[in-house]
Amino acid sequence: MTEVGFTLNEIDFMIKNIRRLAKYRRVKTPLMLAGGSSHIAPEPYGTVLIIGPWNYPFQLVMLPLAGAIAAGNCAVVKPSELSPNVAGIITKIINKNFDNEYIFSAEGGIEMSEQLLAQKFDYIFYTGSTTVGRIVMEAAAKNLTPVTLELGGKSPCIVDKDTNLDNAARRIAWGKLLNCGQTCVAPDYLFVHKEIRDEFIKKLINTSEAFYGSNPIKNEQYSKIINERHFNRLLSLIDKQNIIYGGNYDKERLKISPTVIYPVTKDSKIMQDEIFGPVMPIMEYENIDEVIGYINDRPKPLALYFFSKDKGRIRRVLKETSSGGVCINDTVNHIASAGLPFGGVGDSGMGSYHGRATFDTFSHKKSILKSQLIFDLEMKYPPYDVSEGFI
Ligand code: NAD
Repeated sequence: MTEVGFTLNEIDFMIKNIRRLAKYRRVKTPLMLAGGSSHIAPEPYGTVLIIGPWNYPFQLVMLPLAGAIAAGNCAVVKPSELSPNVAGIITKIINKNFDNEYIFSAEGGIEMSEQLLAQKFDYIFYTGSTTVGRIVMEAAAKNLTPVTLELGGKSPCIVDKDTNLDNAARRIAWGKLLNCGQTCVAPDYLFVHKEIRDEFIKKLINTSEAFYGSNPIKNEQYSKIINERHFNRLLSLIDKQNIIYGGNYDKERLKISPTVIYPVTKDSKIMQDEIFGPVMPIMEYENIDEVIGYINDRPKPLALYFFSKDKGRIRRVLKETSSGGVCINDTVNHIASAGLPFGGVGDSGMGSYHGRATFDTFSHKKSILKSQLIFDLEMKYPPYDVSEGFI
């Protein structure tokens, strides 16, 4: 669903729409240029570099690649070294089936990335952490190469008192536990209204059990953590005293059970950086102003989720906060709505893609004015008549 399914959808979209997307688009021409016509012509940038992360290692390389080649570019992709099996498959698909001067997979780690970034590409599309995003942008700046940066961050999820708690619990648990929390748009932490706090937490825990049973570590459908470094990082974030659910782990198999931490404060260790694992810290609130203030005091998130039936509060959250994307009464699924461009803002990234936006990302919009050769506006040319009374 999240790796091959997403990618196939994007390829289908490109095949079905390429003629329309690649067409010159005629726009209005002002009276002053009468007789001429104005067009916007999408043209490929040239050779693009696509650097991918490990958490959806196939989709996050192949989906942008589909748009890059639909837009007419050559491309080099650099899959993540932390998911070497998938990187190997990407290399096999690309390097064995295509002319390698057209598209090429360059497998390797940071050194390979650095070598690639030292070359002059015509566009760089990077998905990964905000820290490395800065390095990529710095390298791109040396060659004045335009970039898309698809980064991460802490995406808040707010549960209002006025909502359907069963649906909220299911949709939040699903979004958080998908790929074991290792999803850039996973709800990172929860703000739950004080009046429904206990009832909601109970439902969240019950949902987790309904999904993965009472011993999720042994459940084959429940994912593992990518490697030991991330496993240890996650354990160090879990404040044992405040675990109200889960907190179990299996070091051998790199598994951490769904874990709920309550209470936490804004100063808790787990509230400082993106969690990227199956651990849900919960804070409570009374007034939506507190939540809006908290979010606005921090870097702009990649996603924001608000569960509420109250139109006024929904409007306020939409108008008074900024984030890459938003779901009202859902999590993660905004990225599956084909007409919506997906991307971050501020520290969570720049630029966007998916569907039409992918094609546009990899196309330079060349402006073309076609003038006629039949008549000319004499007053355009010097010498100008500046005599009194002329104007
Ligand atoms: P990462 O930044 O560590 O690595 C991503 C890529 O950059 C890899 O291919 C890696 O080889 C390369 N890289 C790492 N260090 C580098 C350096 N110093 N110089 C040049 N290249 C370097 O990210 P990750 O751990 O693979 O992915 C997790 C992060 O990605 C999370 O923050 C997550 O939120 C974010 N992410 C964002 C999206 C999105 O669409 N916005 C999607 C998935 C993941």
